[in-house]
Amino acid sequence: MASHKEKMQKQKEKVDANIAKAEIDRGTVLLLTGNGKGKSSSAFGMVLRCLGHGYRVGIAQFIKGTYFTGEKEFLAPMTDMIEFHQMGTGFTWETQDKSQDIEAAKKLWVIVEKMLKDESLYLVVLDELTYMIAYNYLDEDVIIDAIRNRPESQSVVITGRGGGAALKDFADTVSEIKAIKHAYQAGIKMRNGIDL
Ligand code: ATP
Ligand code: MG
Repeated sequence: MASHKEKMQKQKEKVDANIAKAEIDRGTVLLLTGNGKGKSSSAFGMVLRCLGHGYRVGIAQFIKGTYFTGEKEFLAPMTDMIEFHQMGTGFTWETQDKSQDIEAAKKLWVIVEKMLKDESLYLVVLDELTYMIAYNYLDEDVIIDAIRNRPESQSVVITGRGGGAALKDFADTVSEIKAIKHAYQAGIKMRNGIDL
């Protein structure tokens, strides 16, 4: 039987070979979707990584405009490293005003288009953007075009359930987070730092 050392040596050769094979150096487009918990928090994990490397980050949160979140509280004041924007209205089922929602979505999209041209932003997070496509508030092709024409070094993370077929096709990395269960279903309250 191969020793642990031999197995690990083989594994290392495989990993090193794969690393050597990857030659393209450019920013990527990531789509984090599915019904399970962990989409936005994963995106903010990447924000943390970027900050650790000294990179600037742009963030646009669609839908959750009126929610208090730990990420906004912590990141928004870091104006030298972070550009933080939120849609002015709250959840659509709270505002119940479609034309106002569309207007708010379009207003935030104008800011996003600027961020997608800003070479100083290494990462742009478009949190909950998929709902804007699902509700037809923003056009999927317009979104894809703007992302396609971004600076080469810039990466874009999109979160939200669903997401159009074209967006899935266009993204370099697509992860679908599957819901097995959620504490909420057992009657456990949303928790600061864990859920918001
Ligand atoms: P998170 O921001 O925690 O990573 P998410 O971005 O994957 O979650 P959203 O649909 O944006 O999921 O919902 C955000 C909030 O809803 C969080 O408080 C999260 O805990 C909660 N949530 C996420 N998935 C579920 C689920 N399947 N059932 C109940 N609540 C959920
Ligand atoms: Mg989310």
